[in-house]
Amino acid sequence: MTEEKKPQRKKIRATGEMNRIMADYFLELDQAAKTGDKKIAWCTSVGPAELLLAMGFLVYYPENHGAMLGSTRMAAELIPHANALGYSPDICSYLTSDIGSYVTGQTPLTKIFGIEKVPKPDVLVFNTNQCRDVKDWLAWYAREFKVPMLGIHTHRNPSGLNDTVISSVAKQMEEMVEPLEQISGNKFDIDELKKRVALSRECSALWKTVLDTAANVPSPLTFFDGTIHMGPAVVLRGNQQAVDYYKLLIAELEERVKNKEAAVEGERFRLYWEGMPIWGRLRAHSELFTSLQTCVLASTYCNSWIFTDFDPEDPFNSTAKAYTELFIVRGDDVKEQYMKRMIDHFKIDGIIYHDAKTCPNNSNNRYGMPQRLEKETGLPSLTINGDLNDMRLVSDEQTRTNVEAFIEQLEENR
Ligand code: SF4
Repeated sequence: MTEEKKPQRKKIRATGEMNRIMADYFLELDQAAKTGDKKIAWCTSVGPAELLLAMGFLVYYPENHGAMLGSTRMAAELIPHANALGYSPDICSYLTSDIGSYVTGQTPLTKIFGIEKVPKPDVLVFNTNQCRDVKDWLAWYAREFKVPMLGIHTHRNPSGLNDTVISSVAKQMEEMVEPLEQISGNKFDIDELKKRVALSRECSALWKTVLDTAANVPSPLTFFDGTIHMGPAVVLRGNQQAVDYYKLLIAELEERVKNKEAAVEGERFRLYWEGMPIWGRLRAHSELFTSLQTCVLASTYCNSWIFTDFDPEDPFNSTAKAYTELFIVRGDDVKEQYMKRMIDHFKIDGIIYHDAKTCPNNSNNRYGMPQRLEKETGLPSLTINGDLNDMRLVSDEQTRTNVEAFIEQLEENR
């Protein structure tokens, strides 16, 4: 196949607007860190952002910074600096690359936005709904910056979610109000919390609409687009900017659907990605699948910022439920039911499991799930060994060979 004839992944026009609002978000944080005119809270990605926004904090997400360290391929050089401080190469490579970034004074924010360093926190807030690593990660910064750390300890891997579980999380959230009042100097206002929860709910519903466009054949969207365009849902939920952005993106995607424009030219196969993205190989993997006329179009990862339970009239309980119903928190029985619904909804031909060496929490191939799902659905799957940020754990040759063989298998099964 000549260079000109290679299938292409279609570019999204709205990307320019997304880059603009993301730049505004980081520049506002930088300004606040320099002037001290607004307090800054660091929050784990599915921590109680709405409460922090309602209390007047600007919210910064270290995991988002971790993903930037991965996608800019800075991580591998930085990880050893955290290892030298006693943080094992086997634990979360977001954590190790982020701490490495801090101790060496390097951040991708400099090259992308002209920001010298990450904004210093006034408070650190975690929720262990996703893993224990987030608490250990923020604890390092709590010692470094000598600022308070608050947190929610969520029950992990439940099958059913009963009132005991939800009310325990809601109560922990309510107990944060008093210390947050002291740190921020602002009085808690329930109406402001309701407003932030309503904005997050709207953002979440719009983000779901974005991802659901991929159920069309051909899909107007790829997983690789999703990993980029989820940025506003991650760092700007609870803010009007995210809502406005997703309306713009949806209009573009709906236009594609109407015109039957495929994200991957000549789409032949439709795959589901289960697990973390391999941030340092997003472009390479997008090109690999596109060259095989295969659209990886849906994922658990991008879906993780869909929170259907937010209810502004019951802000604490509904937020607790939204942040505890997450896929990553649940037992395998619930996860498998979820995967089956996704397979049907997105008309999936096969599943890619990413076994991320340093994130067992987001690697769902380790306890027999691929085998059980294949038995029940008949859908084949492929496991790719790799990592989210540590590209020393990725074998490009092996990935390419395995993916090509998997697509051949799908072809033979047709
Ligand atoms: S879920 Fe995985 S990638 Fe995310 S913070 Fe925890 S260990 Fe790191």
